[in-house]
Amino acid sequence: MAIYELSCETGHRFEVIQSYTAPLPSCPECGTTTRKIPSTVAIGGAATVPPPPERMPQTWKGTHRGDRDYVTALRRTAESRQKLEEKHPELAGDRRPILAHEGRYEAAPLRAGDAVPAPSEGAGHGHSHSHQHGHGHGHAQGKADRRPATGD
Ligand SMILES: [Zn+2]
Repeated sequence: MAIYELSCETGHRFEVIQSYTAPLPSCPECGTTTRKIPSTVAIGGAATVPPPPERMPQTWKGTHRGDRDYVTALRRTAESRQKLEEKHPELAGDRRPILAHEGRYEAAPLRAGDAVPAPSEGAGHGHSHSHQHGHGHGHAQGKADRRPATGD
């Protein structure tokens, strides 16, 4: 037995509990045929946390080419996530658009509204080229750092 969420041709939604093999009932409100709505929300027991918007499909293909029932299910998932975030704002996280996520921003992406850090990331050294400090490299300096390790 399983709980199915069904949608009829005119958009009524309801749930049924029946076996996997039983034929789907027609809509109790209008009598049209029904289809299962794919559901990502577990019913009963431990409820799963709806995924954040970042994990929702972002492409036309990701919505099964706009399959109506699938999109409806997605919308419901998004709504349940919104409700969850209303109750638990800490789940919402940082939704500002990411402006940069490479280099120094790889671990902590630069978001819109963030102050751009000063370019001197090796604080205290005052070097403009902070990549080469020469620790433990002997005399390897400057252009030598790009030379491939060939035996000569
Ligand atoms: Zn109906």
